[in-house]
Amino acid sequence: MVPKVHYLDQIAITVKSHMLLKQLLKVSLVLEEIMRNAKNSTEALVGVRNWVVEELQKHKDAYQFYKGEIKGREAYEKLDWGDFAAIRILDYIDNAGREFEDPNLRGEKAVSNPIKLIWLAVNYGTGGAKPYFFRDMLYLFRQFCGSYKREMPSPEKLEEWMNRWCTGLDPRITKLREENRERIIKVLIEKIDSGEIKSKKYVFDPDLSDEQKFLKMLEWWGDYSFHLRFAVRSPDLLNELLCNSLDPDSMKILYEAEKKGIPFFINPYYLSLLHVRVPYFAIGADLAIRYYVIYSQQLVDEYGHILGWEKEDLVEAGKPNAAGWILPSGTNIHRRYPEVAILIPDTMGRACGGLCASCQRMYEFQRGNLNFNLNKLKPKKSWQEKLNNLLEYFELDSQLRDILITGGDAFMSSDSSLKQILDGVYEMIVRKKKANEKRKEGEKYAEILSVRFGTRLPVYLPQRITAELVKILKDFKHRASGLGVKKFFIQTHFESPMEVTPQARESVHLLNAAGWTVTNQLVFTSAASRRGHSSKLRQTLNEIGVLNYYTFSVKGYMENSFNFATNERAVQEQIEEKIIGRIPSEYEEEIREFPNNAEVLADNVRNLLRKSNLPFLGTDRNVLNLPGVGKSLTFRTIGITRYGRRILEFELDKTRNHSPAANHMDKAIIIESKSIAEYLYQLGEMGEDISNYESIWGYSIGETEPRMKLFEYPDYDFKLTEEFTNFGEIE
Ligand code: SF4
Repeated sequence: MVPKVHYLDQIAITVKSHMLLKQLLKVSLVLEEIMRNAKNSTEALVGVRNWVVEELQKHKDAYQFYKGEIKGREAYEKLDWGDFAAIRILDYIDNAGREFEDPNLRGEKAVSNPIKLIWLAVNYGTGGAKPYFFRDMLYLFRQFCGSYKREMPSPEKLEEWMNRWCTGLDPRITKLREENRERIIKVLIEKIDSGEIKSKKYVFDPDLSDEQKFLKMLEWWGDYSFHLRFAVRSPDLLNELLCNSLDPDSMKILYEAEKKGIPFFINPYYLSLLHVRVPYFAIGADLAIRYYVIYSQQLVDEYGHILGWEKEDLVEAGKPNAAGWILPSGTNIHRRYPEVAILIPDTMGRACGGLCASCQRMYEFQRGNLNFNLNKLKPKKSWQEKLNNLLEYFELDSQLRDILITGGDAFMSSDSSLKQILDGVYEMIVRKKKANEKRKEGEKYAEILSVRFGTRLPVYLPQRITAELVKILKDFKHRASGLGVKKFFIQTHFESPMEVTPQARESVHLLNAAGWTVTNQLVFTSAASRRGHSSKLRQTLNEIGVLNYYTFSVKGYMENSFNFATNERAVQEQIEEKIIGRIPSEYEEEIREFPNNAEVLADNVRNLLRKSNLPFLGTDRNVLNLPGVGKSLTFRTIGITRYGRRILEFELDKTRNHSPAANHMDKAIIIESKSIAEYLYQLGEMGEDISNYESIWGYSIGETEPRMKLFEYPDYDFKLTEEFTNFGEIE
């Protein structure tokens, strides 16, 4: 049987591909000659290689970088625009013919051999490469030959891009949202009156007038449990609450999603942030919100075939996970790094205040392991005992010093569950500290320095940040500070400046007032990746007292293709936009102290911005959270499919500690789920002028930014053991 790859080589290219090929050959006579004179694809590879190596050798640093003889940020910053292209061409050639399992194609093999594809196209009109591929090649050789240059945006341009985006604090936007709230409330009153929606808690007295019912609803609107009870769980109600503004194509996708069993859970507050008509002063402003909760065709098509992303999460009892850690439970504790582990309680915290379309937990929903049956998520009687066992894991581990309590969403847990967890954590910290008194210097275990919560409720449902919750947090901070815990962080997840509403701002103020630092993890979706959008979010968050922590590329495969912004865009954003918030080293110490005075964090940030003349504090790092390898943006583009989807080889982030198992697995291959051309097309559909993004094609190498001291663990005043407990060699 002829292998499939050979069949593909015989496929004729399209007219559009031919036209792009013609342009490609015009870029350089050398390239055209190599392609026309090579008798086979190997000769073409050798010809291109010799040509490019000769050029690259003129730049000693770049050549050494290509050979892997020098690495790191400093070496990376010495590369010029043409070097990026030369290194990419050579990496393509060095990896020519390599086959990769492509999880985007449900495990089908993807083969990368771009020079061969060009040679086939030139000599036989075959190879099956798509126009997306040829466009990428065209930019690549133009970049190498110097006819495609990078123009860095001016500070004025950056400001203009940022100013395009409204925030949820803009009075015009708050007014629109009040109108949305009114509309939603009226529909819900009708549903309650007709008996279509029933609730034991939220019932109207029989003699209430329409106006009184409306006022009652307004009162309920401030209560978070109202929003959970009345969260939308079907496409029809969603459309109705959006004033039937969803078009038939979108509705068709949503019906399919419902049929396939993808849960719907959008609470009325969050729904009120979506526009039903596009306001002239904020065109496209809500897209990052909209596409985060309204499902795409790709997600619906792939649901049922979604593959798990995190290798570390696959745990077999008693056996080390992918990072080498032995865990007491695969569902309650997740661990990748030596210093920190995630605790996922068996409480309502397994759910969230909404279901984000690109959530990696979609895999678990698909398997039926997760749901939004909130009543069933109440903790069982045996939970206290289980919690004690889980916390014992932290207590008896030699390296763990940071506990990240998350879910789902940590703050979906009731106040009593959270208090129970924090009391348990407190006792564990006491015991861990006490046990250390008996250990000698050099044999002591890590004591807990950091307690964190992961929650998107300040965004999805800011009403959840109640005085009672804040009291629990404040009380815990007070007690745990006395035990040497230094960091009390709430990690939240704002996607858009439009999510920063007066209610969200108030929730952050309350958390800050309780002495907790709020940090943000933005997921860099295609809508959130539009020029200036992330910077505007960083700025808006700084203004309300939030520090930016990570800008994450979207994880997952084809199911998340719609929301995926390519990693090249993440690099472009880092280099061309975030740069204006780059923090001069003299301010690092000052920022490091911010969490120690979280109560006045917003004031301190404001003062620093004034003093430093920065538009925002670029404290976050743009990274992809990779299976096995962890957070990194250190990559090289080593291949490309005939569909133009790039193949990236990532390396471990060398700036942080890893499990000893990382020595065996410091690289990961990611095949992107969309080509640059498709990404740009999508931006065009969102109304973007894609000429503003043109330099994206040239960003083929990434380097992880250094971590801010703010996020580092403080040192101990004793000598820690070098022993790793709970660790096993992976077979
Ligand atoms: S809040 Fe986080 S965990 Fe919850 S659905 Fe969104 S991405 Fe997933």
